[in-house]
Amino acid sequence: MRRFWGLATTGFAASLVVVFATTAFPRESAQGPYFSLRQLATDRGLDFVWDPVARNATLSGPLGFARFHAGSEYFLSEGRLQRLPEKVLFSGGEVLAPREALTTLKGLSKPLRVMIDPGHGGRDFGAITGASREKEITLQVARDLASELKANGVRVRLTRNSDSALTLADRVSLVNRSRPDLFVSVHANASATRSLEGFEVYYLSPETDDYLLADGRADKPIPGEEAFLWSGASRQTRAIYWDLRQADNRRQSLRLAKEVVESVRQAIGSGSPFRIRGARFYVLKWTECPAVLVEIGYLTNRREEKKLKHSVYRKKLIKAVAEGLINYAYERKTDRNF
Ligand SMILES: [Zn+2]
Repeated sequence: MRRFWGLATTGFAASLVVVFATTAFPRESAQGPYFSLRQLATDRGLDFVWDPVARNATLSGPLGFARFHAGSEYFLSEGRLQRLPEKVLFSGGEVLAPREALTTLKGLSKPLRVMIDPGHGGRDFGAITGASREKEITLQVARDLASELKANGVRVRLTRNSDSALTLADRVSLVNRSRPDLFVSVHANASATRSLEGFEVYYLSPETDDYLLADGRADKPIPGEEAFLWSGASRQTRAIYWDLRQADNRRQSLRLAKEVVESVRQAIGSGSPFRIRGARFYVLKWTECPAVLVEIGYLTNRREEKKLKHSVYRKKLIKAVAEGLINYAYERKTDRNF
């Protein structure tokens, strides 16, 4: 199942699930130390599913899953088959895995962190048409998107959660300081061509001058865990680091844009166009993580403006955007060639 962590089913269908009552079980076996998969799931807030027919135990979190088979030393994690030094046991009503599996399972409980940026705010109204103001729509959509993501175990932060004015530089520095996994800026479009409509996702244009961008970043310290590797590096070496990092972020941003558009296309269907576009928007250029800017629709198109005001349509759209973000993160975690 590709869309493993679909939003339609938060967790798993209950029918197949047998969750065991706590019973005494041996934590150690003759072969060495074992741990209970169910207990680990409880401790780390993961889902645990035991299929007694297939004798499979599955542990899952917001970013992926691992599946064990009682009686086998092979297990599936991060999209590939891995081998343990001992077989997984089923004993005393518990599925017991050798301690070596713990290393691989670590990543499952790490929640996805997303920063959402409601466009405009304060005296910057964004697009205004009739009774619609972009700054209000973006804030409402961002809040709803945040709730949808949170309901699926994602950690979310907003660049603004009121009608406050933020400069583009403010937004970027908020993102780069809190270092989320993904960044999404929310906007609603406007055009003098009133017939223009559709849902659009922007990523940083490949036409951006990467060298200039990397050069502009070269004086900054390297953030995060990689910092110590680059301490004492020359300015030129740091520019190379940023160049590589930017190229990777652009590739990831394009994949993210594709997942979001695909998810929205599936949810909304035909009727209005969907586009992926490269652009040199400030918030895409200077944020240091995979980043997209979503234009939820054209307020200047009467039909689309009406749709966007409709709560059922909006809910569907927001749910689909959330699903696209989660699918991207899941694919990234499970696809070795990502
Ligand atoms: Zn805007």
